[in-house]
Amino acid sequence: MIDRMDAKVKLNNGVEMPYLGLGVYLLSPGKQAEAALKHALEIGYRLFDTGRFYGNEFDVGEAVRKGGVPREELFVTTKLWNSDHGYNKAISACKGSLESLGLKYIDLFLIHWPVEGLRNDSWKALEKMYEEGKFRAIGVSNYTISHLEDLLEHARIIPAVNQVEFSPFLYQRDMLEFCRQHGIQLEAYSSLTRGIKLSNKTIVSMAQKYQKTAAQIMLRWALEHRVVVIPKSAHPERLQENANIFDFSIEPPDMEILNNLNENFRVAWDPTYIR
Ligand code: NDP
Repeated sequence: MIDRMDAKVKLNNGVEMPYLGLGVYLLSPGKQAEAALKHALEIGYRLFDTGRFYGNEFDVGEAVRKGGVPREELFVTTKLWNSDHGYNKAISACKGSLESLGLKYIDLFLIHWPVEGLRNDSWKALEKMYEEGKFRAIGVSNYTISHLEDLLEHARIIPAVNQVEFSPFLYQRDMLEFCRQHGIQLEAYSSLTRGIKLSNKTIVSMAQKYQKTAAQIMLRWALEHRVVVIPKSAHPERLQENANIFDFSIEPPDMEILNNLNENFRVAWDPTYIR
C-alpha cells in the first residue's frame, strides 16, 4: 500500500521517483509559478514536472535551488519539445533545459511526443546525456504500445518512464500491462481530467463513501494501479487536497467500478494516429 506522501517507486535503473508530484503546465512563469511551487514544497511535494514547452523551467529551477529543500530530495522532470528532435538538436535542447533550470543534473528527462521519423535519433541524444550523468533517468511521453515497441527495437537503454494521459475515463489497461512487463513505470498526466469529470456521479458517490473529494478519488485510483500522479493546481488548498491521498485505499470492488468508467476520454492530445 502506498501510504505516505514521500512514497517512491524504484525505476528500472534503481533511481527512486516520488509517487506524487506537481505538474506545472499552465502555471504562468513569475509570481504564479513561484507561489505555487513554494506552497507545494511546504506541503511536501518533491517532484516537479515541467517541459521546455511550458516556459517555466526557470521558475522550477529557482524553487529547486532556493526553496530550502536539499537538491537530492527533489525530483525534477522536463521534456524535449517537438521542434527539438533529431540527434544534434536534441543535444542542444537538453543542454538548454539544464541551463534554463540552472541545475547540474535533471532527474528525469522525457521525449514529450513521439515525433515520427526523428524520435529514435532523439533517443540516442538522451542516452548520451544519461551516460554523461546529466540525467538520472530518461523516458518518454505520449508513447503508445507500438511506439514503445519501435523504441525497444532501437534503444540501448530501456526507457524508465512513459508519461501518458490516464484517468478512470481513459483507463489504459493494455499500456499499463505492457509497461509492467517491460519494467517501464507509467506516469499519469491530466489524471483529474482538468476538472471536467469531477462531477461524474460515480466519482461523487465514491467520494461520499470514502469521505474524500472527487479529485482525491481520481488520484487514489491511479495510485492503486501504482501509477505516478502529477496533478496541477495553482491554489494552496487544492495542492493540499491533492496531496491528501495517502491515508486511505480504494477497495478492489470499487476499483473495478472505477475501472469500468473507461470511455477513452481524453482532455489532451491523442498520439494514437502517429506512426
Ligand atoms: P489535471 O488533470 O492535473 O488538472 C488540472 C486542472 O484541474 C487545473 O485547471 C486545476 O485548476 C484543476 N484542479 C486541480 N486540483 C483540483 C481539485 N482538487 N479540485 C478541482 N479542480 C482542481 O491536468 P493537467 O493537464 O494540468 O495535467 C497535470 C500535469 O501533467 C501538467 O501540469 C503537466 O505537468 C503534465 N501534462 C503532460 C502532458 C504531456 O503531453 N506529457 C500533457 C498534459 C499535462 P487550478 O490550477 O485553478 O487549481
